Amino acid sequence: MLIKHAIIYQMKSSIFCVCLFFFISLTSAQTLVVLGTTQDAGKPQIGCHKSCCKHLKSRFFVASLGVSDKKNKKNYLFDATPDITAQYQLLSKTTGVKSIDGIFLTHAHSGHYTGLMYIGKEGMNGSKIPVYAMPRFISYLTNNGPWSQLVALGNINLKPLQSQTSIALDSGLIVIPIVVPHRDEFSETVGYKIIGAKKSALYIPDIDKWKIWEKDIIVEVKAVDYAFIDGTFFEDGEINRPIKDVPHPFISETVSIFKNEPLSVKQKIYFIHLNHTNPAHNKASPQRIATEKQGFRFASLGAQFMLN
Ligand SMILES: [Zn+2]
Ligand SMILES: [Zn+2]
Ligand SMILES: [Zn+2]
Repeated sequence: MLIKHAIIYQMKSSIFCVCLFFFISLTSAQTLVVLGTTQDAGKPQIGCHKSCCKHLKSRFFVASLGVSDKKNKKNYLFDATPDITAQYQLLSKTTGVKSIDGIFLTHAHSGHYTGLMYIGKEGMNGSKIPVYAMPRFISYLTNNGPWSQLVALGNINLKPLQSQTSIALDSGLIVIPIVVPHRDEFSETVGYKIIGAKKSALYIPDIDKWKIWEKDIIVEVKAVDYAFIDGTFFEDGEINRPIKDVPHPFISETVSIFKNEPLSVKQKIYFIHLNHTNPAHNKASPQRIATEKQGFRFASLGAQFMLN
């Protein structure tokens, strides 16, 4: 009799464990995956014969994040880079979700939106894939080929954003675009705050300088759990043209802005969007080691972050 009870008890508790396991895996379903880490032109960069690129056999993908909701089987991409094909493959392989349910674009610089071309007739021939962008960017996509064809054929469904106005997605995720100062030739530039059930992330791959932003980057980083922010150049003098023509906060500047913040704040920062020349690409470089020693981190391809 006792044995029978013990067996029933064990069965009940293992059923409870299995249920708990499924509950946990369903509720920990919001996963952010780093899909790329470099500046718009990737690494190696075309035309570069210097040591940063010449021996590379494989490509570092352009900066992008993917967010998967395994429970509701939804995938969202942040930026549509020229590497979108392999990046979507990485996201779906990592999380098992096979769909594109929304693409959030930051701005109309080549590395951040030209991947849309693969959504068109010559590629996956998407059907009304929601593409979120700011109003000027929407007008640019609607009125200039080849993007206008994606709109005309219904491959994409353009969804206008408003700065600091949240978008609530089916999956319970909330996305908030935030305008940042940048070279806005064809569009506005935004960063995104991505808010999951319990945790949130900031994604700002491009900004001219933190000090000309109306917001305080320290406050913004403190408000999230993970901050994927502009790490284009390590320091001044890194490229052969005037760096003032392509302004970005140097990693050395960002490090100094955060120097008096506690380790827990510094550890939220993951530098992303590194130029091919940035010495911090190399994990063994003194610049990378010194930066990591202070608590800062670097985004790495395929890294996963739970949002709940
Ligand atoms: Zn960029
Ligand atoms: Zn190079
Ligand atoms: Zn840009």
